[in-house]
Amino acid sequence: MDCCSQKPVFAFPLGEKLCKRHFIDYFEGKVFKTIRQFELLDKEENLGVAISGGKDSLTVLHLLDRLAQQNPKIRMNAIAIDEGIDGYRDKTLITAKKFCEGSKIKLHVFSYKEEFGLTLDEMLKILKVKPCTICGIFRRYLLNRKSRELGFTKMATGHNLDDECQSIMMNQMRNDLKASARLGPKAGMISDIRFVPRIKPLYLCSEKEVTTYAFISGLLDEFCECPNAVHSYRAQVRDMLNEMEQKFPGTKHSIVSSFLQTLPFLKEHLKGGMIKICSKCGEPGSNETCNACIYLERLKSRVVYQG
Ligand code: SF4
Repeated sequence: MDCCSQKPVFAFPLGEKLCKRHFIDYFEGKVFKTIRQFELLDKEENLGVAISGGKDSLTVLHLLDRLAQQNPKIRMNAIAIDEGIDGYRDKTLITAKKFCEGSKIKLHVFSYKEEFGLTLDEMLKILKVKPCTICGIFRRYLLNRKSRELGFTKMATGHNLDDECQSIMMNQMRNDLKASARLGPKAGMISDIRFVPRIKPLYLCSEKEVTTYAFISGLLDEFCECPNAVHSYRAQVRDMLNEMEQKFPGTKHSIVSSFLQTLPFLKEHLKGGMIKICSKCGEPGSNETCNACIYLERLKSRVVYQG
C-alpha cells in the first residue's frame, strides 16, 4: 500500500511503501524518538561522533548536528580513526573530511601508524589473526582514550539494529554474557570516569532504512566496504540473520526487542566486574594488561625478531 501519489522509495516487509518525503519524516522521527526514549542526550553535551565516512556514521552525525543547531548547549565534534587499510580507509576519510568541512564540524583524526607505529595492513603481515579482532581492539582503545582526552561527555556511534542483532547473536554463540551486558542503546555497563559513555541513536533503525536515508538525503553517493569484512565472524552471522529475515520478516527486530527486555537483568546480574588499570598504559580494562597492550607487545617482539 502506497503512502501517497508520489513514487515510493522504501517498502516495508509487509508491503507498506513510503515516498521520499514520508520516508525521511518516518526515519528522522524514529531516530529522534530513540534519543528521547532511551534518554541518550543530556541538556548540555560536548558530543563526539565516531565517524568512518560510511552511511551509518554520516547519518548519525547529520541528525545529531540538526539537534545541536537547535540547542546551543550541545557542542558537536567528530572523531575518526585511520587504521591504515589501503584502498579503503583513505577513501572513506576523504568523504568524512568533506562532510565535516561542509557542516563546519571539527574533525579529529587519529591513526594506528602514529599511535601504535604500524598500520593495520602492516600489523596483519606480522600477526596471523583475524583482521577485525585486532582492528576492533585498537579502534575501541583509541576512540575511548582520545574522546576522554578531548573532553567529550559522550561518544555517539552509527550502530544500527542489524549491528546490534549481530552482536547479540555472536555473544550468545560464544557464551559471552558479559559482552552482551555492555550492549544496548547506551553502551557500557560500568560507569567509570575513564570510560566515555557511548550512545547509539540509530539503535532501532535497520541497515536497509539507514542506507535508504543516507542515499536519498544525499549524505553519500557511493557504498564502500572494508576488504577485510568478508573474513569476519560477524559477516557470517550477518548472512545467517539476513537469510532468516528474508524467510521470517521481523526476526531481527524481535531479537533486539527481546534482548532489550532482558538487558536490565543482565546489567544487574553482571555488574560486579571490577575495572582494572592496565599496568602498561594506564587505560581501563578488565585484566592486568589490556588487550591493546597484549597485541602491541606481540607486534613489537615479532618486529624486533624479524629485524
Ligand atoms: Fe576493521 Fe574489520 Fe571494520 Fe575492516 S571490517 S574496519 S578490519 S573492524
